[in-house]
Formats: sequence, structure tokens, C-alpha cells
Amino acid sequence: VQGKLCRDIIRCANFAALKHKDQRRKDEIQTPYVNHVIGVAYILTNEAGISDISVIQAALLHDTIEDTGTSFYELQAEFGEDVANLVKEVTDDKTLPKEERKLQQIVNASKSSYRAKLVKLADKLYNLRDLRRATPVGWSKERVDEYFRWASQVVAGLKGTNKALEDSLRDLFAERGITI
Ligand code: NDP
Ligand code: ZN
Repeated sequence: VQGKLCRDIIRCANFAALKHKDQRRKDEIQTPYVNHVIGVAYILTNEAGISDISVIQAALLHDTIEDTGTSFYELQAEFGEDVANLVKEVTDDKTLPKEERKLQQIVNASKSSYRAKLVKLADKLYNLRDLRRATPVGWSKERVDEYFRWASQVVAGLKGTNKALEDSLRDLFAERGITI
């Protein structure tokens, strides 16, 4: 059993590494994009105390549909219905204009399943830490602040899911005078 779980997780990490191989983060040093998805999975295992394998797999795959053109069906064939559905739940609808997508995240947060909320919380925590660590190329201070304010509205809808993640997020917002 352990061998299978281990293989299932590494299969996702490998799939994500291949799919994101040409992508970089928005920071000055162009960190490989795959660092982000591994980091999100790591937050879930090491800070949130999550051992649900499907959640960890979904964390590793969470940006493949949105950012690499991977289809739901490919994920379903490779990793099963459960994982594919979770990834779908954390994927923005790219047919909508960007401002509408951002609004949808706020509106949909509280309607998500418990497991999708975990991935969303870890994703926001990673991105906000990333923004605090290094400002993305071309971003003004105002744009960073605006991102924190928007993220706080999404996180407000994810409350009551995981204390460790919510405490860390609350502290990051508090640093900027935002209360959730
Ligand atoms: P974007 O959606 O353009 O960028 C943020 C996303 O980029 C994150 O959610 C993350 O997504 C990904 N990302 C990649 N690299 C990094 C990194 N190093 N650190 C953090 N995130 C990274 O941002 P927004 O459009 O939300 O811009 C923020 C705010 O600024 C908006 O609320 C908007 O109103 C405003 N704005 C200002 C503009 C301007 O001043 N010119 C232009 C557009 C918007 P993932 O988890 O998928 O990797
Ligand atoms: Zn992400």
C-alpha cells in the first residue's frame, strides 16, 4: 500500500514538472514554476497536517488545467476521477475576463468542498509569502497591496477549514493592516 501511495505522489510531481517545464514564476530570478506547486503540497503536509493523498496529488496538479492546457480528461485518465475533480474545483474559468475570474474566486470560495478549500488556502498562503519575499517584475507596491486585499476576500470565504493555514494567513494580512 505504502509503495503505491508513494508512486502515486511522485507520478503527480513528475507530471507537473513536465507540464510546467517552460514556465517561470513572476519574480526577478525567474524561479521555475514547478517550485510553486511542490511548495503548495509541502505546506499541506508540513503545516496543515494533511495526509489525504488525493489532496496532496491535487495540490501538485492544481495549476495544470489552468496554466498548461492539460485537459480534465487527461487528469482523469492518469490520476482518476477524484483527483481530477479536485483540480477542476480549484481551476479558474479562463473563458471569463480576468476581473470576472477574480470576482468568481471570492464568490465561489465558501461553496467549495473541504478538500478544495485546503488547496485554495495553501495556494494563497504560498503566493502571499512569495509576494512578501520578492516583488514580481513590473509590479508596483499598490498592485501588491491590491493583491493582498483581494486574496483576503477569497480567504474570508475559506474560513473554518484549517487552523494552521488560517492563522498563518491572518498574520500575513495583519502585517498589512488587513483583518479577515
Ligand atoms: P496576477 O493574477 O496577474 O498575478 C498573480 C498570480 O500570479 C498569482 O495568483 C500566482 O498565481 C501567480 N504568480 C506567479 N509568480 C508569482 C510570484 N512570484 N508571486 C506571487 N504570485 C505569483 O495578479 P492580479 O491581476 O491579481 O494583480 C494584482 C492586483 O493588481 C489586481 O487586484 C488588479 O486589480 C491590480 N492590477 C494592476 C495592474 C497594474 O497596476 N498595471 C494590472 C492588472 C491588475 P498561481 O497560483 O496560479 O501561480
Ligand atoms: Zn497556484
